Amino acid sequence: MAEGGVTNALLYAVIAAGANIVGALAVTRRATASLRLIEHFVAFGAGFMLAVCLTEIVPEALTRSGALAPALFLGGYLAVHLTQHALVPHFHFGEETHHVNAVAGRSALIGLLLHTFFDGVAIASAFLVRPALGVLVFLAILLHKLPEGVTIASLMVAGGATGAAAVRSAALLGLATVAGVLLTDHVGVLVTHGLALSAGVTLYVAASNLVPEFQGKGGWRLPAAFFAGAAGFYGTKLLLERIW
Ligand SMILES: [Zn+2]
Ligand SMILES: [Zn+2]
Repeated sequence: MAEGGVTNALLYAVIAAGANIVGALAVTRRATASLRLIEHFVAFGAGFMLAVCLTEIVPEALTRSGALAPALFLGGYLAVHLTQHALVPHFHFGEETHHVNAVAGRSALIGLLLHTFFDGVAIASAFLVRPALGVLVFLAILLHKLPEGVTIASLMVAGGATGAAAVRSAALLGLATVAGVLLTDHVGVLVTHGLALSAGVTLYVAASNLVPEFQGKGGWRLPAAFFAGAAGFYGTKLLLERIW
């Protein structure tokens, strides 16, 4: 990666990691209005991330990984299901509103670490392709980082953890994202195939984590936020292409 690329990807990953902590603080400080706003981030972020994944990451990954790309898409998708759901007793995105045991909180944290690591791999791999794609993927990741912080912090609190421990858990997720950026730059297989694996991971996060959180809820605001997220992606892409 060019030196500017590393610095950029790392800076953006640190900002995304910070959003994990802000989401956790909204939970521990019981900021109800902020939590309601963050619910709309889930829908908007899902639309944005789905659009980036299908129209940008998938085509670029096909170029980078060639014949291996489709298997890596599937592998990334299945790996998230394995670590976040199959091996974990209770996990879903969004605020935890019922009681869970402490094991559920800790195992969900471990499961989420792989996904948040790939949040970082996605940002770094996208910067390797071109800066505009790096910024688009960063924005997609950033939008779901607030709800991600809410998810882990509320799950830890519901499992009996203290507020401080809940915020530390969110910080750990943020660190995994920063580690994802740093490792992408040093591990050859991630330099080449990180984008294809990230395509599977981001497809899972958008379509199988975020969309189910609002598809059953009534009203027009959440679907509107979802479509606005996809449209917002195209608007941002056009804007960035004018700059670069
Ligand atoms: Zn639950
Ligand atoms: Zn994430």
